[in-house]
Amino acid sequence: MSFQRIAIIGLGLLGGSLGLAIAQRLPNASTAGFDADPATRDRAAQLGLVGTVCGTAAEAVAGADLVILCVPVGAMSNAALTFAEALPADAVVSDVGSSKASVAKALAQALPHHTIIPAHPVAGTEQSGPDAGFGELFAHRWCILTPPADVPESAVEKLSAFWEALGANIEIMDPDHHDLVLAVTSHIPHLIAYTIVGTASDLEEVTRGEVIKYSAGGFRDFTRIAASDPTMWRDVFLNNREAVLEMLGRFTEDLTDMQRAIRRGDADKLFDLFTRTRDIRRGIVEQGQDDARPDFGRKDH
Ligand code: NAP
Repeated sequence: MSFQRIAIIGLGLLGGSLGLAIAQRLPNASTAGFDADPATRDRAAQLGLVGTVCGTAAEAVAGADLVILCVPVGAMSNAALTFAEALPADAVVSDVGSSKASVAKALAQALPHHTIIPAHPVAGTEQSGPDAGFGELFAHRWCILTPPADVPESAVEKLSAFWEALGANIEIMDPDHHDLVLAVTSHIPHLIAYTIVGTASDLEEVTRGEVIKYSAGGFRDFTRIAASDPTMWRDVFLNNREAVLEMLGRFTEDLTDMQRAIRRGDADKLFDLFTRTRDIRRGIVEQGQDDARPDFGRKDH
């Protein structure tokens, strides 16, 4: 049996995309949604992101067999508390947050009597808000589930089947391992992008006009990432603190190593690293996780 009544809390990029994907790929399931922002609720209703846009989170979860929280990771606990009383006893609760250990803890504390299976669809864009959603967001992307040990296997299988129906591939992981992996593949790259764009904008000897004019020299691709939602990313760094600091330490050491290679004119060291990294890019394209075109095939989004 698949989920029939799905409640989505938070109707921005992820929540909106989820509602659209369910409508497209699971037409027999009904969706109800809530967002804390009244303007987002209105826009979600206009765009038809979910079947019913509710005035409260409690209304949205009434009768639901699956509730998915699509709010910033720092807002998970408060969002869960707003509907805790109205949540049906047998409903499965999940989320889409970008960090997992702290979210798992927050949800377990807020909803101690429910089946909670934290999840992270590794799919997104630098856009946010209800207008950014699109139903194909999860197609051919990985969705990582981090089920606690005491959750029934049948519930994990049901949630896996739900995400597979939306086009995603499933991976089961321990939450701490998830946080370490995502620190290096997603969180540190965002931190580097935010920092380099900040550094360029603070320079006194290079004008802002020059930075923008010559951005195709690599800077432009960093600005795409650095345009990502400030609330979401503030929360990711505050909630995945340990793993990010661990990976940042290693990155800083490697950066210092490169600094030394440049200073000493160690051509082989530079060339070897740049050759190795090119292979990683090829692997990503070969596995269908990106597009080899110079615009990454992203013009439509
Ligand atoms: P978003 O577009 O900003 O949407 C989040 C929505 O949640 C906003 O409309 C926000 O309203 C609302 N919200 C905040 N607190 C709430 C509460 N207590 N109750 C109900 N609604 C609340 O963000 P997003 O990109 O969809 O991200 C949502 C989650 O997905 C985050 O946990 C993020 O880590 C994760 N994620 C994001 C990506 C990505 O690429 N963007 C990818 C994978 C996972 P306000 O604007 O009024 O705060």
